[in-house]
Amino acid sequence: MPPTTVRITAVDTYDIRFPTSRELDGSDAMNPDPDYSAAYVILRTSAGGPEGHGFTFTIGRGNDVQVAAIDALREHVVGRSVAELCADPGSLYRDLIGDSQLRWLGPEKGVMHMAIGAVVNAVWDLAAKRERKPVWQFLADADPAWLASQVDFRYISDALTQDEAVELLRKGRQGAPDRAADLLRRGYPAYTTSPGWLGYSDEKLTHLAEQAVTDGFTQIKLKVGADLEDDIRRCRAAREAVGPDVRIAIDANQRWDVTQAIEWTKALAEFDPYWIEEPTSPDDILGHAAIRRGVHPVKVATGEHVQNRIVFKQFLQAGAIDVLQLDSARVAGVNENIAILLLAAKFGIPVCPHAGGVGLCELVQHLSMFDYVALSGTKQDRVIEFVDHLHQHFLDPVDVTGGHYQAPTAPGFSAAMHQTTIDTFTYPHGTFWAAEAASDKPGNATKDHV
Ligand SMILES: [Mg+2]
Repeated sequence: MPPTTVRITAVDTYDIRFPTSRELDGSDAMNPDPDYSAAYVILRTSAGGPEGHGFTFTIGRGNDVQVAAIDALREHVVGRSVAELCADPGSLYRDLIGDSQLRWLGPEKGVMHMAIGAVVNAVWDLAAKRERKPVWQFLADADPAWLASQVDFRYISDALTQDEAVELLRKGRQGAPDRAADLLRRGYPAYTTSPGWLGYSDEKLTHLAEQAVTDGFTQIKLKVGADLEDDIRRCRAAREAVGPDVRIAIDANQRWDVTQAIEWTKALAEFDPYWIEEPTSPDDILGHAAIRRGVHPVKVATGEHVQNRIVFKQFLQAGAIDVLQLDSARVAGVNENIAILLLAAKFGIPVCPHAGGVGLCELVQHLSMFDYVALSGTKQDRVIEFVDHLHQHFLDPVDVTGGHYQAPTAPGFSAAMHQTTIDTFTYPHGTFWAAEAASDKPGNATKDHV
């Protein structure tokens, strides 16, 4: 009897929300009360073997909209051959961004694009599991020509051609085994944002900053941008806590206009900030270029809200950023992030990914580790953001020890959540939220504002 083709049988989606707003974890100048959330997807197969797990990140209300966007992609996925899908995840990526009716909602940006990212990342999770490799190793071992074929060069070929990408990946393979061994031995540098949330007291900030140095971090990050006097006081406290040799990045979360960004950053210059992150709108490429000229030698960083490879291309072409902060779940998944890593390598700009949220650390570590082993080949001035929240909900949580992400060795993308987490925090009928609704407790941030 001929073997039956294994197919995707279901695309199951979940609206998972955590009540993080109660502790002001994650609070910044633009997002005072986030309930960290995941629009989570599981690709089921007819084999009963490995499943593909993926998600995108939101901060509460609207996570249901994000889930609905993933649901809208279902018809493209169910019924596909798992072997064909895993041999060419780019085929699904192209079908999803090419759905002309859904494309109208972007194109290639926003809720629909993030939904594509969740599904595409789930396919890479499945593909790597079938090869019994973590995603970073799956990518690092891949044939350069095949990997380049996974990238959509439409709209970026003026900056990077497919031939150039193959060449960069071929060069990146030289010495890869030594770097993989180094990665497994020493890990990949991390920095921590945990001390710097805007809602924390000065005492909590100081304590967490001192703890970060004790824990081996060489960079921390503070949220700024709500009140200048507060920022001066908090930056002074942080600098006193960590000493002169630890880098302090500051992050305004898009709070300012261009002129204000320059003035505010200069007002904090005495505390020697390493970079100013998201000083203004993530769409304002020329504004970032002006800020970069205005705040030198403070570096300019952005990326967590940059919506696609095309905008990243322009940031690089315009000389508008010193640090590129790609996000594992903002763009259309691994395929588009390979394009962004290749663009950064071509322009010689370090990638320091955005992470935190729910599971973003778990995902993005794989992309930086691939970049180190088989593309840029360096960890110089490269750090992955680390926020020590919500990792307990994952089957294969990140391990950050001595200020370094330890390389994951379990097959896949480290994306799978515990079933108990799904059962507890699915909104609004999971056991946690159902109990909240039944109690007399005051409203939480996830409920509609009145
Ligand atoms: Mg940020």
